[in-house]
Amino acid sequence: MNKGISDIAVISEKENNNTAELISKKSNTGKSKKLYVESYGCQMNFSDSEIVTSILAKEGYDTTSDMEEADLILINTCSIRDRAEQTVRKRLIHFNSLKKRKPEITVGVLGCMAERLKSKLLEEEKIVDLVVGPDAYRDLPNLVSQVDEGHKAVNTILSREETYADISPVRLNSNGVTAFISIMRGCDNMCSFCVVPFTRGRERSRDPLSIVNEASDLFEKGYREVTLLGQNVDSYKWSPNQELKGKAQIEKVNEQEIVNFAQLLEKVALVHPDLRVRFSTSHPKDLTNEVLYTMKRHENICKYIHLPAQSGNSRVLEMMNRTYTRDWYIERINAIREVLGDECGISSDMIAGFCTETEEEHHDTISLMDYVQYDFSYMFMYSERPGTLAEKKYEDNNSNEVKKKRLNEIIEKQQQLSLIRNKMDLNKVHKVLIEGFSKRSDDHLQGRNSANKVVVFPKENYKKGQYANVLVTECTSATLIGAAVNQ
Ligand code: SAM
Ligand code: SF4
Repeated sequence: MNKGISDIAVISEKENNNTAELISKKSNTGKSKKLYVESYGCQMNFSDSEIVTSILAKEGYDTTSDMEEADLILINTCSIRDRAEQTVRKRLIHFNSLKKRKPEITVGVLGCMAERLKSKLLEEEKIVDLVVGPDAYRDLPNLVSQVDEGHKAVNTILSREETYADISPVRLNSNGVTAFISIMRGCDNMCSFCVVPFTRGRERSRDPLSIVNEASDLFEKGYREVTLLGQNVDSYKWSPNQELKGKAQIEKVNEQEIVNFAQLLEKVALVHPDLRVRFSTSHPKDLTNEVLYTMKRHENICKYIHLPAQSGNSRVLEMMNRTYTRDWYIERINAIREVLGDECGISSDMIAGFCTETEEEHHDTISLMDYVQYDFSYMFMYSERPGTLAEKKYEDNNSNEVKKKRLNEIIEKQQQLSLIRNKMDLNKVHKVLIEGFSKRSDDHLQGRNSANKVVVFPKENYKKGQYANVLVTECTSATLIGAAVNQ
């Protein structure tokens, strides 16, 4: 099966546009093959795997959780840090050993590693049959048949328009209560540490009507919470004029013709008062007061904002090209507290040991954390990524030991803050959307409050998908514990 470069089917843009037809032609073949999908990285990737599954379901593929019985194994990959790529590589070696026993299976790489490593994976290491970038999933049926014909296949063309708006995702590993809806793709910010703009392409927003329809459909199927997903949701902008390509052109149009994020949020909130709405991720430079007031107006828009700071020092933020300062960030936090009060959950992403960051600048991150009192944070050591602005311009001069030490200090600070914040929730009644049994016992249920905190309480007669009012009486830094009360 291993082929040289001349046998690799590289798909042109024209062919890429023809795949919708191909799907409908093939959808009635009735063949039932098994698809095994594994996803890594951010929630967008998990959401994309649901789109991929939907596209392949039309080709007669059923999903399986047992890779041994799969005809097609797809791994949806993440490039954000080196460690994420190493994890994927280990999995590929594992799939390859399976392929030695079952040479008829097809192994494919999807997502962010596709563009970066396509030639390495296909030509040098020859460990996959198929490489498909995040904007080329409609082409999968065509690419899979090329592999069936004995070629290797690759399509990593990035698009300025693709939003998969018309594709109804097949929900994978779903609890039947909460679901993700992708509202935009790509990213136009050029944070100097980040590969996303290179791996996922330019920012584009999805038709709001298709988003509202997806939310209504989920509500009718029994789901009670949707999370609107994008790399930078506050910069969502959609214009009915389909001639306009990308955010840059849309921004030149009269404001009145544009649907912005606050307006989209309101449209989704109006689907039903019992449908909770969350969103992620917010960029501090784009989070508007209009969004905050929209959140305040609608009880069903959860009072929780993921607002990654990355660093608490303005010089480091400038080097990161985050386009805001520490003072700007603090002003946005003050605005959140002013409009939504202390109970609004706030979380962050933090990077420890970015290029040239000094000990004092690291302490600015800790002091910012103290100021904001985050409920939760995702915390990382800086990992230099090939092709990024930081890799080209700056020296990755902090040793691994320094990065580790700073990361541990950030983690320790966050644990203290999470406990402080959770203690503020004691002796209060929280409206909890029940997601299922608690991890530890089938006598207890677990769900989340509006601020995105996990709440555990005795089951009684409550069921998954219902709301319960829970009086919280105990907590750890990760969980609120209590009992349901009648209200
Ligand atoms: N778009 C989101 C934002 O700007 O907040 C985040 C997207 S990224 C998938 C998630 C997080 O990964 C970032 O917020 C950042 O903290 C972290 N990250 C990205 N590149 C990184 C790198 N090279 N090293 C360490 N962490 C990184
Ligand atoms: Fe990466 Fe910055 Fe875009 Fe987030 S906003 S995806 S960190 S470039």
